[in-house]
Amino acid sequence: MGLEETSQTAGCDSPWMQEHNGTVFWDSKAMDVYSVRLRNRAPKVLWYKLVWDRNCPPRFSLIVWLIMRKAIVTRDKLLKWGKTRDASCPLCGLAVENRDHLFVQCLFSRRLAAAMKCNLLLHTDWDTMVNSMIIVGNTRAGEWHALVWCMLLTFIWKERCGVTHGSPCRTPEQVA
Ligand SMILES: [Zn+2]
Repeated sequence: MGLEETSQTAGCDSPWMQEHNGTVFWDSKAMDVYSVRLRNRAPKVLWYKLVWDRNCPPRFSLIVWLIMRKAIVTRDKLLKWGKTRDASCPLCGLAVENRDHLFVQCLFSRRLAAAMKCNLLLHTDWDTMVNSMIIVGNTRAGEWHALVWCMLLTFIWKERCGVTHGSPCRTPEQVA
C-alpha cells in the first residue's frame, strides 16, 4: 500500500492548501511521515535547504515547511475567519498569536530557544530570522544549527497545539 489520502491531517483544509490545490497524504509504510502534494509548482526558494535537509526528520520538515509558507492556522487567522474570539497566544497570553509572535517574539519560545542553545535574541521578526538562518544553514558548520532551529520551530508548534487542545502548559525547560 502506498500513500493514502486523508482529510484528517493538520492544514489540509486550510484556505492556503485549497488555494494551492494541495493535498496531505499519510504514508502508511513509514507510519510517521506525512507527504504534501501540490499541483501548483513554485520556483525553488532560498530556504529550501533549511527545511528539506537530509538530516532533518520528515515530520519536522513538513511542519517547518507549513510554517514557512504561512500555512499553519494561527489564532489571528481564526479571528479573521470568525472562528474564535480569543486571538491571544496560548503559550504566553501576552500578545495576538501570529507567526512572528509565536516563533520569534513569544517569551515562551525565546526561553525554549535558550534552553536548546538556539539564539533568537538577535531577531525581532520572522524575515530577519529566516534570512539569518539561510546564511548560517548554507555553511557546513551551520547544518547542525539549522537542524536545531527546525526542531525548535516544531517543538513550539507542537506545544502550542497541545495547549490549545487542553494539555497542561509545560515550561520551556521541560519541552527542551
Ligand atoms: Zn506568546
